[in-house]
Amino acid sequence: MAYLFRRASPGHPLIPRAVRPALLPSVLLLAASFAPSLCAQAPANRPDSSAVTLLVPARVFDGTDMHDGWAVLVRGERIVAAGPAGSVSAPAGARRVELPGSTLMPGLIEAHSHLLLHPYNETSWNDQVLREPLALRVARATNHARATLMAGFTSTRDLGTEGAGYADVGLKRAIAQGIIPGPRMLVVTRAIVATGSYGPRGFTPEMDVPQGAEEADLSTVAHVVRDQIGRGADVIKVYADYRWGPNGEARPTFTQAEFNEIVDVARSSGRPVVAHASTAEGMRRAVLAGVETIEHGDDGTPEVFRLMKEHNVALTPTVAAGEAILRYSGWKPGDREPPRILAKRASLKAALDAGVTILMGGDVGVFTHGENWREMELLVEYGMTPLAVLRAATSVNARVLHLDQLGNVRPGLLADLVAFRGDPAADIHAVEHPLFVMKGGVTYRAP
Ligand SMILES: [Zn+2]
Repeated sequence: MAYLFRRASPGHPLIPRAVRPALLPSVLLLAASFAPSLCAQAPANRPDSSAVTLLVPARVFDGTDMHDGWAVLVRGERIVAAGPAGSVSAPAGARRVELPGSTLMPGLIEAHSHLLLHPYNETSWNDQVLREPLALRVARATNHARATLMAGFTSTRDLGTEGAGYADVGLKRAIAQGIIPGPRMLVVTRAIVATGSYGPRGFTPEMDVPQGAEEADLSTVAHVVRDQIGRGADVIKVYADYRWGPNGEARPTFTQAEFNEIVDVARSSGRPVVAHASTAEGMRRAVLAGVETIEHGDDGTPEVFRLMKEHNVALTPTVAAGEAILRYSGWKPGDREPPRILAKRASLKAALDAGVTILMGGDVGVFTHGENWREMELLVEYGMTPLAVLRAATSVNARVLHLDQLGNVRPGLLADLVAFRGDPAADIHAVEHPLFVMKGGVTYRAP
């Protein structure tokens, strides 16, 4: 579909009808009396509401389809026009950004990050949780947030601080206030695990070791969900299974009754629940309880993927995290593929065959922040088309994560726009090369 620029009233020729009511009062208010002080105090992450930018790439991916020769017009923090370059006209004085040879698209959305973690080959997960001071972890996280944004990921669903308490809530506010650059964040705070099932572990049983997530049971799950919501969780994350079987294998943790309680309480508050799950039984309980997305899903069976499809539950495969962990143990791409990879290829194929909605989320933090594109490349390697992966990272993630102002290039939506050198629909590796990054109408990277 083409989003053609339409001429509005003579006084405001560049603001389509739909956007005018929202923009005009603020423009008039600024002009009337408060302009100098408001401008002076405006946070660095808010654009001048009258600033107009015309973006001229080789092509535009609008979240669904690729359009050669399109241009996009931005006013303030929103997209006001998108369509064939000849039909999108900019007013005198508009900034024109030429992006020759590049593809402009909605700001990419990461569905599974941990900004408070850094790669496990630098410091093991146990040591990050137990030995790194909170301030150290937050200091690192500010770098991670910047790297994420500069790579073209303008939003992220950050799925757990892994022992760093509620630091994601503060990080999100620091970004929103323009104190540090970073992506828009959806946060879960500590995440929820069944008592005794998580880590770090392996210590004398007499010792109470701080855990990487908050423990709960049937008698306490409602309290824990409400408490996390009260402290700032946008989403509730629960571990449906973990490696606590007799031989260290993944086994289900929460019972169906516990799971149902978690979803009931979260839903009452209007918040979705997402589940870490790799076993078929953990996935099944999560789906029946009513979670919206399942993270990992490594050992999902055709039956459980059909159940996900039936209940409209999406899957974040996190292929890149599994691959990174194998690399840390010495495996390299090109080596014979170990059973874990072969099983992952088979389960992702089963999910695709069942028609499950696939989200783009790599569990970044296990590997280097800013290399979120690794998951996009691996999803192509595992059988998705580049165009399907681009949709997953934009319009599909936006829809499933309830980010209705994002994920598409369409007049009226927020101007989160990024450009990559080349055409990622032809070669997905283009997403390694960001040329231009805009979030909410503010340019963070330009050629
Ligand atoms: Zn994760």
